[in-house]
Amino acid sequence: MGPLITEKVALIPEGSSIGQTLVWATALLKSGGVDTPRLDAECLLASLLRSNRLHLYAAIEERLPPAVFETYRTLVSRRQARVPLAYLTGTKEFWSLSFRVTPAVLVPRPETEVLVETAVARLKRLTAPVIVDVGTGSGAIAVALAKMLPSARIYATEISREALDVARENAGVYGVTGQIAFLQGDLLEPVFARGLIGQCDLIVSNPPYVATTDLAVLPPEAHYEPLEALDGGPDGLRCHQQIITVASALLRPGGWLALEMAPEQESLLIRLLRDRGGFPDVEVVPDLGGRKRMIMACSAEPGFKPCRGSSPEQDSVGMNGV
Ligand code: GLN
Repeated sequence: MGPLITEKVALIPEGSSIGQTLVWATALLKSGGVDTPRLDAECLLASLLRSNRLHLYAAIEERLPPAVFETYRTLVSRRQARVPLAYLTGTKEFWSLSFRVTPAVLVPRPETEVLVETAVARLKRLTAPVIVDVGTGSGAIAVALAKMLPSARIYATEISREALDVARENAGVYGVTGQIAFLQGDLLEPVFARGLIGQCDLIVSNPPYVATTDLAVLPPEAHYEPLEALDGGPDGLRCHQQIITVASALLRPGGWLALEMAPEQESLLIRLLRDRGGFPDVEVVPDLGGRKRMIMACSAEPGFKPCRGSSPEQDSVGMNGV
């Protein structure tokens, strides 16, 4: 923050109009390196006023009450420090649904919608498909799938109790609590504990996939997100590997495993799926920006015993998981 901006912060008079306040906030956010400073300034104010951005423009000459102004000032300075916008407003849109988010969960990203879209296309002809969402976080994938596939039965696992509470709340908001069983535990462990061997039509996950050494170069916002939702170990694929190794035991023949990935992880994941998971054929699906984002594999045989021949170290060399 430069001295000029500091001065402006001090000088913005209480009782300024909404228009003046937005100009001030935009300058401050810009000085913090925020990509979309005006948009964020408007979203923060609209959220604080429980209104929308259009209404701000209709009321642009109006003055903010002093208490509102003070709260807004605090929000703006936190956003300037690069706290994710979604944590400040408490919501994030995903699949055209509004999800509650807290710092206990990863902020849902638009690229993850590819998982939902592809899963829906694959499962929509099945009656009562059984789905597992591994590491559900805010519940974005599980809730979106429940809305799209009303006959589906979904098991959403999550190691963090706090995150699971957020996911449950989101399911409640969208009336799909009856469709989703929320299970606390590591990756697929709680699903094995339920005895769902050979019964799943889809195992879907957006596991952590950033290589530990790349965490430092993530945008500043990511440093406010739960580390366990981002840190995928030395090659970024620690969780993928664990899921892939056991997935076929849970899938019914013809069932699908669908994992989000970083585009650079494609070839290593193809190898892991083939050598450790027993999935010879895979399909890679790009996101809207054309980046390879999702890897899918179909289970051919029931109860396949994965090959444990290759060491994890061998599989992991040289990956960049950002
Ligand atoms: N796409 C996220 C990021 O790079 C990573 C999400 C994840 O690790 N699952 O910010």
